[in-house]
Formats: sequence, structure tokens, C-alpha cells
Amino acid sequence: MIEVIDAWLRLAADRIHEQASALTALDQAIGDGDHGTNMDRGFGAIRALVDAGRPEGDGPRAVAAARLKTAGRTLISTVGGAAGPLYGTALMRAGTSVADAAPDATGGAVAVAALEAAIAGIQQLGKAVAGEKTMLDALVPAAEAGRAAVAAEQAAAEVVAAMAEAAEAGALATVPLLATKGRASYLGERSVGHQDPGATSAALLLRALADATHVTGAASVSGSDAG
Ligand code: ADP
Ligand code: MG
Repeated sequence: MIEVIDAWLRLAADRIHEQASALTALDQAIGDGDHGTNMDRGFGAIRALVDAGRPEGDGPRAVAAARLKTAGRTLISTVGGAAGPLYGTALMRAGTSVADAAPDATGGAVAVAALEAAIAGIQQLGKAVAGEKTMLDALVPAAEAGRAAVAAEQAAAEVVAAMAEAAEAGALATVPLLATKGRASYLGERSVGHQDPGATSAALLLRALADATHVTGAASVSGSDAG
């Protein structure tokens, strides 16, 4: 499992770095133009963490959980603004969820539960719900799609691919929304007609997860404690 998570964190860091100016441009339209640099700084620090070696843990899921929690703390300590603490909390909650997963839970079910825990953490901290033009507009539909894929007994790689697809659609669907949370809400009606930067980075992160799962091999995600 740590193989997939580390492959995900590295791929996410690469893609955020590539997309940093695009994310910043989105934030220039409805925020303060720092989302790309914020995320790039945070994921650059996460890459250094991954490069430094694997965490200790009693079993594959404990190791994976430790990685997610430390990555979350890294984001909180290196990224200012709204997104650092929100994504940092999300990763920490995801880590707790992975650690607490039932031993016989499938890889897809573990991924969905982790995303749901991440969303709960974001909502607790940011007091937003879906429809307010935030990262939740990518993440909430992703969790719904993931739940449906698990219910349909799809393999882990298909579950995370369904999440990524729903997140991308959700990010695009923020364009007509009126922002009522975060910095973009200061613009009122002028926030309409722009894609939310945080929803865009959330979709990027889930696409990276789907691609890392695909490449690293579903074998190390699926099953009880394999990998
Ligand atoms: P800041 O707004 O402090 O400059 P960033 O630019 O890094 O931070 O991140 C902005 C993104 O954070 C927004 O596009 C939005 O998706 C997300 N965001 C802001 N406030 C909230 C909130 N209360 N709940 C969820 N997401 C939020
Ligand atoms: Mg900003």
C-alpha cells in the first residue's frame, strides 16, 4: 500500500509543479493568486519527505497511515493560506481512516473511506458544504462515485478512476457557482464564471491517485493487507 501512496505523492508533486502557474492563474481570477505556489511548496516538501525514506509501522496499513499523517502535517507546516491546513487535515484524517480500516476491507473500500474521512476533516475545519465553490465540489462527487463503484464491486483501480473522473467533472462544474466560502466569496457575483482553484487541485490530486494506482498495480492496493 505504501508503494501506491508514495507513487501517488510523487506524481501529485510533479503534476502540481507542472500546473502551478495554471492553478495560480485560476486563483488570480477569484482569489489572491497564490494557490499554485502554495501547493507547489507543500508538495515539494512532501516529495522531500518521501525521498527521505519510509516510515515505521506495524503492518502495511500502519505504514501507509503514518505516511499520510506525516504528509498532512508537512502541508500544514509549509503551506499558508486556506488550502494548506485544509488539505493537510484531509491527509491526516485519511491516514487515521486507513489505520482504522477493517482488515478485510477491499482496497477500493479503504480508498473511499479515506476520502470520506478527508472530506469530514475539511468540512469541520472550513465549515463549507458542496455547492459553495470550493475543493469540496470536486471531492464530494468523487466520494459518491467511489461509493457507487465499491457497491458495484469494482476493483480498486476502477474505484479510484471513478473518483478522479467525478472530481474532474465537479471541478468543471464550479464555473457557474457563486463562491460563498473562502477568499473568492469576497467577490460575490464576480466569482461566477471562473473555475475554483481548490476544486481544480483536488481533481488533479485524485487523477494522480488513479494514475499511480494504475501504474503501481492494483495488486498492492487491493486485498486485505497486500503491499
Ligand atoms: P487562500 O484562499 O488562503 O489564498 P489558496 O489560494 O491556497 O488559499 O486556496 C484557495 C482554495 O481553497 C479555494 O479555491 C477553495 O477551493 C479552497 N477553500 C477556501 N476556503 C475553503 C473552505 N472554507 N472550505 C473548503 N475549501 C476552501
Ligand atoms: Mg489564494
